[in-house]
Amino acid sequence: MNHRLAIIGSGPAGLTAALYAARAALEPIIFEGSQAGGQLTLTAEVENFPGFPDGILGPDLMDLLHRQAEKFGAQLCPVDVTSVDFSSRPFLILTGEDQHQADAVIVATGSSARWLGVPGEDRLRGHGVSACATCDAFFFKEHEVVVVGGGDSAMEDALFLTKFASKVTIIHRRDEFRASKIMVQRVLDHPKIEIRWNTLVEEILGDKTVEAVRLRHVQTADIEDFATQGVFVAIGYEPNTELFRGQIDLDEMGYLETRGNTSTSVPGVFGAGDVVDHVYRQAVTAAGMGCRAAIDAGRWLEETK
Ligand code: NAP
Repeated sequence: MNHRLAIIGSGPAGLTAALYAARAALEPIIFEGSQAGGQLTLTAEVENFPGFPDGILGPDLMDLLHRQAEKFGAQLCPVDVTSVDFSSRPFLILTGEDQHQADAVIVATGSSARWLGVPGEDRLRGHGVSACATCDAFFFKEHEVVVVGGGDSAMEDALFLTKFASKVTIIHRRDEFRASKIMVQRVLDHPKIEIRWNTLVEEILGDKTVEAVRLRHVQTADIEDFATQGVFVAIGYEPNTELFRGQIDLDEMGYLETRGNTSTSVPGVFGAGDVVDHVYRQAVTAAGMGCRAAIDAGRWLEETK
């Protein structure tokens, strides 16, 4: 199958690119991936997307963006891309059995939760260890849980968990949070939330399910086994660039490198959203970059016709 433009990823960047490209008559195909809608589908309330003064649920926002792209003729495929070949022209995109060709590609594959990498984490994942409070908080009704991290995700997760858990302890490696002031204040004011500053999680303990975390104080080096039934890891994200490694320039952190506009090191391949951006990483900035990538791709296709 031949396409003028293929978009890989369906978060705010991919779907906004799809909307703009469809309206520019580029007839884009969007490989949505198995987790269509991206990270916002794992978020509860989104309070900072412009145009929604009362907030909107993440999945509802993605559903609106999906419908808006579809309305203008974007072809949305709920499949994972398994490999790409950016050395051939047109570019090759494989999705399991199917092979697609595209004159231009927008990469908008976003990022995924980062894990601590401590003993016990892998073994107890799904048995008390989670990186998605929105997905799993429900299982911790009247339980005591910990949240690891000091950014907006950790604050958001801790606040969300208070709706279910009897107590939430945030474990942070420094003595101040990097999260936005409004989120920090809500956390500090919350009666169910306690904070352990300057503390690292060294190990997650438990036989079949989580029973405790082994903590180490950064300054005193004191070790403590802290009883808990749930561990929510909220320590940031890694870019989803594994598919493109060796084919396109990545920076030292593994993010897609763009030059000037949304162009990458391969002419005709553009990048947008969290797969490129490790500074702003907001739904609205991803959407804005998706719009720019669609315009850049349209201009490039016109110039190279
Ligand atoms: P982040 O801002 O990168 O924060 C990650 C946190 O995890 C930091 O506090 C960091 O500690 C800690 N950390 C990192 N690696 C660690 C490790 N190995 N062990 C222990 N702690 C570790 O990530 P994020 O909170 O996921 O936020 C990502 C972006 O999304 C941000 O731009 C944020 O504003 C945005 N976001 C916004 C909202 C919202 O507006 N409602 C909600 C969620 C996320 P240090 O502080 O010491 O580096």
